[in-house]
Amino acid sequence: MTMPDRLIDRFGRVHNNLRISVTDRCNIRCVYCMPENVEFLPKTSLLSFEEIAQFVRASTRVGINKIRLTGGEPLVRRNLPVLVEQLANIPGIKDVGLTTNGILLAPMAQALWDAGLRRINISLDTLDADRFLELTRRTGLEQVIEGILAAKAAGFDPVKINAVAIKGVTEPDVVPLGEFCRKHGLELRFIEYMPLDAGNLWERDKVLYAHEILDLLTQGIGPLAPAADHDPKAPALDYDYVDGGGRVGMIASVSRPFCMSCNRVRLTADGKLRNCLFALDETDVRTLIRAGASDDELVRALCESVAAKWEGHEINTARFIKPERLMHSIGG
Ligand code: SAM
Ligand code: SF4
Repeated sequence: MTMPDRLIDRFGRVHNNLRISVTDRCNIRCVYCMPENVEFLPKTSLLSFEEIAQFVRASTRVGINKIRLTGGEPLVRRNLPVLVEQLANIPGIKDVGLTTNGILLAPMAQALWDAGLRRINISLDTLDADRFLELTRRTGLEQVIEGILAAKAAGFDPVKINAVAIKGVTEPDVVPLGEFCRKHGLELRFIEYMPLDAGNLWERDKVLYAHEILDLLTQGIGPLAPAADHDPKAPALDYDYVDGGGRVGMIASVSRPFCMSCNRVRLTADGKLRNCLFALDETDVRTLIRAGASDDELVRALCESVAAKWEGHEINTARFIKPERLMHSIGG
């Protein structure tokens, strides 16, 4: 097989974006992501920083240039800034981002910035302490807010806030989150609830759709218009407040899947390559790495995984099969 210089699949999609889960562990237990009682991977199953860096170095040969670290909760992985620095220094890597629940962020924000992290998304579904407890089964709202403010102070701009939208649960949170983000200059993005949860709680009727969120924001805060500089490849549909008060994104994964512009592949904490959030098959990269695979062999595995990528998820069809892996062990 001659090695291509880009990761292009059967549908012409070019993949440059690698999402790396660094742990399946988490310090909270969001109901839409994780079961209350969960058995975590043994530490020896996790790819080491060196193994992750080896894979990333190889993947730059076929055009991977954007990395996002996720989890579980990535900040529970010890010495994460060390990994950030290793990855940010790999020739060909243009930027390294992080998705975090923010609880451990305040004391680490500056170290992450100094290590070369430049993009940060912090997940926060509610500003109400009782609903935070209901959704995450833990306390920690104040630490998340401190983490958000620390990220701003460290220089991250924009700081993006991710909120999962669940019908019958998070409607009262939409406007307060909108106001909070306008006040602090944060970019708010709502994510439609997806069927990757632990307790099989997902039902179509529980998805709070992007258009419903837009209505709530329009009524509660003011009119929004589609952003003029919207990037069609980005998963979020961006809207700007007409009064200039900021931006809101809608990740309408259920009502408006963005599969045809997907440019992502995923590496799980235990070294499995997934070509889709909803993939049913995985490629075992850890075994290859631990058997001493060359960069060529790793690139070949990556190319084969992307070549096998399907057209898109089938949440909206009767054919949909929920993957066995839960969100916390895929990485979102
Ligand atoms: N622990 C980190 C966090 O929460 O930001 C990173 C991992 S988390 C799995 C990544 C993102 O997936 C978070 O923004 C989270 O809210 C989102 N998420 C988790 N389960 C989801 C679901 N069932 N539907 C939609 N988004 C979900
Ligand atoms: Fe943890 Fe993130 Fe999953 Fe919540 S969404 S349980 S913070 S991994």
